[in-house]
Amino acid sequence: MSAPFALTNATVLTCDGGGAELPGATVVVDAQGVIEQVGPAAEVVVPRGYRRIDATGRFVLPGLINAHAHLFSDGKPLPPILLKESVESLVAAFMHSPIGRVIAKRRTKANVRTQLHSGVTTLRSLGDVGYEVVEVREEIERGDYAGPRVLASGPLLAVPGGHGAPQIALTSDSPEGARKNTRKNLAKGVTAIKIAATGGVTDARAIGEAGRPQMTEADMTAICEEAHRAGVLVAAHAQSEEGITAALRAGVDTIEHGAAMNAEMIDLFKDNPRSLRGTSALIPTLQPALPLVKLAPEITGADEIVRANAELVFEEMLQGIRDALANDITIGMGTDSALTHVTHYNTWRELDYVVRYGGLTPQQALHAATRENARILGLDGITGSIEAGKHADIVVLGANPLDDFRAFTTPELVIARGTIVERPAVTRFHELDAALDSL
Ligand SMILES: [Zn+2]
Repeated sequence: MSAPFALTNATVLTCDGGGAELPGATVVVDAQGVIEQVGPAAEVVVPRGYRRIDATGRFVLPGLINAHAHLFSDGKPLPPILLKESVESLVAAFMHSPIGRVIAKRRTKANVRTQLHSGVTTLRSLGDVGYEVVEVREEIERGDYAGPRVLASGPLLAVPGGHGAPQIALTSDSPEGARKNTRKNLAKGVTAIKIAATGGVTDARAIGEAGRPQMTEADMTAICEEAHRAGVLVAAHAQSEEGITAALRAGVDTIEHGAAMNAEMIDLFKDNPRSLRGTSALIPTLQPALPLVKLAPEITGADEIVRANAELVFEEMLQGIRDALANDITIGMGTDSALTHVTHYNTWRELDYVVRYGGLTPQQALHAATRENARILGLDGITGSIEAGKHADIVVLGANPLDDFRAFTTPELVIARGTIVERPAVTRFHELDAALDSL
């Protein structure tokens, strides 16, 4: 329950992909946090007893949906020593120790708050230490504190020694093992499943390892069958043609990061009989790669292997976006927050990057981060747009984000399922932001 209210005389952004606006609109939200009416201020009657919030000159739009987040870290560059292969198992052991788990939970709570205060009202966490994000989701649902709507994957599913292992993954090397790990996560209450189909940049030990296929199609098929039986979508970290093709054939619903597409991939994205809903979507994440490619190694701390792999996947991702645009494949939006250089308050930078580097229009970028992501995640009945009947997941901005996404850095209000964050505020890392501003 929240106090009912109305945002009066606002400019509502429909986020339809074409940039349509409803000027002079009033949005009425009931005590259940559901949008009751949207229409011209002159026609909408605000019921007696509702709080009236004057939104003259303000831009009202759906809260952002971050379809690819992690929550275990704040995004500041890690000391390079922690990324060395020799300390990998020590780091993992610490993360999974009782004290490590307490830290992971505390960081998760702080980071979902930061996401909320920067305009994210729904996020999908894809790769957690344990089940700390599931716990935080349950605490938010119980009303213990305000937070975004959370979908949580728990640990991702990988092959032994694969991407994410041993820190944030359950590992297996057979379809039976993969099936068992999927069931384990589902029994723990996850609402998303994440696979590492290929290698990744952050933990690659050789140039070319990011994108190299790791999990077999048979293993991924077993995972998709188990997850889909429970009605849960499967996301796959996949950064090469071979890895993505195998993931799509297995029935993966969202391809994370992406790469240049061949004809079979294009067909499978648009018509994927093994996926949960018949199609698959691309979720590019430019934020972790771009700084590694464009900033000096003295700033990023990246060694030659990391930098070369980042360059490789960045170019592949850009081609994947172009191929998706050219072939009318659904594109969503994710930030890969918690990775080095990806803070929880910089979601707007992803929108900026997919426009400047990926070739989307600002309207398409905002559409991807709202309506499209809602549709991809199966939440379009309840969120993703400002329409009667949907939850009041709303951001109120002082300037039009379609002119400059930086408008998201100073939201006037963020509203999550009707609960108003009156003075959104986040802690910024100024040095990091200054480096990113130079890009
Ligand atoms: Zn990720």
